[in-house]
Amino acid sequence: MPTIGNAQLKLLEKLCNASAVSGDEGEVRKIVLDELKGHAGDAKVDALGNVLVTRLGSGKKRLKVMITAHMDEVGFMLVADDGEGLFRFETIGGLDVRQLPGKAVLIGKDHLPGVIGARPIHLTTVEERKQNIPLDTLRIDIGPGGGKVKPGDRATFATRFQRNGPVLIAKAFDDRLGVVSLLELIRNAPTNIDLLAAFTVQEEIGLRGAKVAAFTLDPDLALVMDATPANDLPDWDGEENNSFNTKLGLGPAIYIADSYTFSDARLVRHFSETAQTEGIPFQFRQPGGGGTDAGAIHKARAGVPSISVSVPHRYSHTAVSIARLDDWKNTLALVHAALLRLPPDILASRPA
Ligand SMILES: [Zn+2]
Repeated sequence: MPTIGNAQLKLLEKLCNASAVSGDEGEVRKIVLDELKGHAGDAKVDALGNVLVTRLGSGKKRLKVMITAHMDEVGFMLVADDGEGLFRFETIGGLDVRQLPGKAVLIGKDHLPGVIGARPIHLTTVEERKQNIPLDTLRIDIGPGGGKVKPGDRATFATRFQRNGPVLIAKAFDDRLGVVSLLELIRNAPTNIDLLAAFTVQEEIGLRGAKVAAFTLDPDLALVMDATPANDLPDWDGEENNSFNTKLGLGPAIYIADSYTFSDARLVRHFSETAQTEGIPFQFRQPGGGGTDAGAIHKARAGVPSISVSVPHRYSHTAVSIARLDDWKNTLALVHAALLRLPPDILASRPA
């Protein structure tokens, strides 16, 4: 049985603290390849940097199930050296520029410390403090003489992983939670299916790795494991928030639709019925912004019926997010149970 215990939490910590901004996923890829040693001799790295692993089952009629988790995270790329330790930068992936000033970052392979500079309150006027600060006036500052970084280097938020009982706090839960879950599934691969695992690159900048991974793996169906924003805070006016898209503590979020994909209805039914039968809590992620690697996979080749199941977390794509251990455990339990129970003929006919 795949489990989330101390070893998996340690691995999550290592992965969340690693830096893998889109297009520069090497640090996380190395951890993934190390973890796969002895569990899958056939791990391959493709031309874009995806890690592909095949675990063939042993049953008679086996569906080829592609399961993905993306290795990359949102962050920054230095683009020009202004001197005095100051660097112009671009955001990589969806980030809200309003949230950047004053944040500590780590730059490049050596994780050199820096800060996204913010002018202190002493030096600003009341009027200035009402304005948004445009990205092109922000700089990543490593301080004069602060070491060797260069344009092209990536930077991540400097947040370190913390656990407080059932609560997990870190950057990059999106999608390091999925990466650990996928490693666990490979180690405990259901034998009734052919498991085609893809640890993908460049999800946050347009699902680029998943597109080529789906071409290579040529699956019958696909399951994407990701982390999804929970918009579950009380409304600012003090009213109860009835419009949350997902909520912490309610379990895995099964997607019906997001910005890029309609989940295959047969898979949605199978996953939700599995949760009910097995007594695993779950929630339907409400449609709205965002998407997953399923957006590229379902349009690959001649089409691939797809579904996403995510762990809800607050403050996605910011310097620090909050997730709950039980939501993660229940997500992995649901995915594993749904794969074990997957009817080989689930795609044989289409609901009328
Ligand atoms: Zn994600």
